[in-house]
This record gives sequence, structure tokens and C-alpha cells, in this order.
Amino acid sequence: MTEPKRDQVHEGALGERLNWLRAAVLGANDGIVSTAGLVVGVAGATDTRSALLTAGLAGLLAGSVSMAAGEYVSVSTQRDSERAALAHERRELRERPQAELEELAELLRRRGLSREVAHEAAVQLTERDALRAHARVELGIDPDALTNPWHAAWASFLAFTAGALLPLLAMVLPPADTRLAVTVVSVLAALALTGWSSARLGAAAPGRAILRTTAGGALAMGVTYAAGSALDVAGV
Ligand SMILES: [Zn+2]
Repeated sequence: MTEPKRDQVHEGALGERLNWLRAAVLGANDGIVSTAGLVVGVAGATDTRSALLTAGLAGLLAGSVSMAAGEYVSVSTQRDSERAALAHERRELRERPQAELEELAELLRRRGLSREVAHEAAVQLTERDALRAHARVELGIDPDALTNPWHAAWASFLAFTAGALLPLLAMVLPPADTRLAVTVVSVLAALALTGWSSARLGAAAPGRAILRTTAGGALAMGVTYAAGSALDVAGV
């Protein structure tokens, strides 16, 4: 893998930092649920520690790499469209500056400024940095702080890996007769924590979020355990 591209350092707005945190919690949640389902399913079919370790590790790597690749593609696409919008704006500013000034004043007026103040603000913003003003007010983006797809990819890789390590270790470290109970309990506890955190980050009531994440995890483990046991009974 290549090094993440160097990017300028920006002061992240609070909203953006919250978005990153929320994405990290969701990535960890995915890592916990999918790896827990995988190792519990294999545990339904076999007691062999090496099989559990192999399945869990393969699941961790497959999941984290696929999450990172997906994130890279989606953020790159978003950045491409933001760049295209900025290029379009730049051209309009060059070709019809007066119309763009009026447009900016109108947008500011709609945000609650009086006609005179909006016009004066538009003039000043245009003198200082017309493109940035249009990007912020019209497109809602900061031209200096477009999301870096490599940062996004690494972040989801790490978040998924951190989440996946929990069920993997809970399954392979304890002795054979307690590994399933240790895994189920620690996974449900961790999911309660990710549910609570994502609710708090979104300023929502945590009760329902905790119920949703733990129910999702319980379902994943229940379904795969049943499938693994069925295969074991069938002698596959
Ligand atoms: Zn414009």
C-alpha cells in the first residue's frame, strides 16, 4: 500500500470531527458484528483453535480491507464531484461576476440579512475570496478542506480492525469450554457501548440505539452458530 498523500493541516470544524467519530464507531461496530458472526459460526462446527483463529483473522482482514476500499471509492467520488462543482463556480465567477455577486447577496439575504447588509457582505466576501464565499454559501463546502480519501480509508480500516479484534481474541484466548460464553458476553457488552456512543454523538436517546446494536449482534451470532452447528451435525 502507498503512503497516505500529504495534505495540509486544517482546523476541523466540530461537526466534521463528530462525523469522523461517528464513522469510527460505526466501523468498529461492523468489525465486531461481522467477525463475531464468523467466529461463532465456526465455533458451532468445530472446537479447533487454529480453525477459529484462521477464520477470525481472515474475516478481520477481508472486512477491514473491503471497508477501506469502499470508503476510498466513495470519498474519491464525493471529492471529484466537489471539485467539479468548484471548477464550475470558478468559471461562472470569471464569466459573469456581476450575476454571481447578486446571487451571493440573494443567498445571504435568504439567510436573514437585510437587502443592504446582504449586498455589502457579498461585496466584501467577493473582494476577499469570491470562490471561497460561493463554495461556502452556495455549495456548503470548504474548498481547502475537501475530505482526503486516503485518510477516510485508513480510518475505516483501523476502526473495523479494532472492532474485529475483540471477538477474535475472545474466541481464541479462553479455554475451549468457556470461549463461546466469553465471546457472546463481551461482544454484546461492546455493542452496547458502540450503540451508546453513536447515540450520544448523534445527540439521540441511547436506549433504542443500544437495543438495535445488541439485537443485530445477537442475530448475527445466533444465525451463524445455528448454521455452523447444522453443518457439524450433518458431518460436513
Ligand atoms: Zn455562485
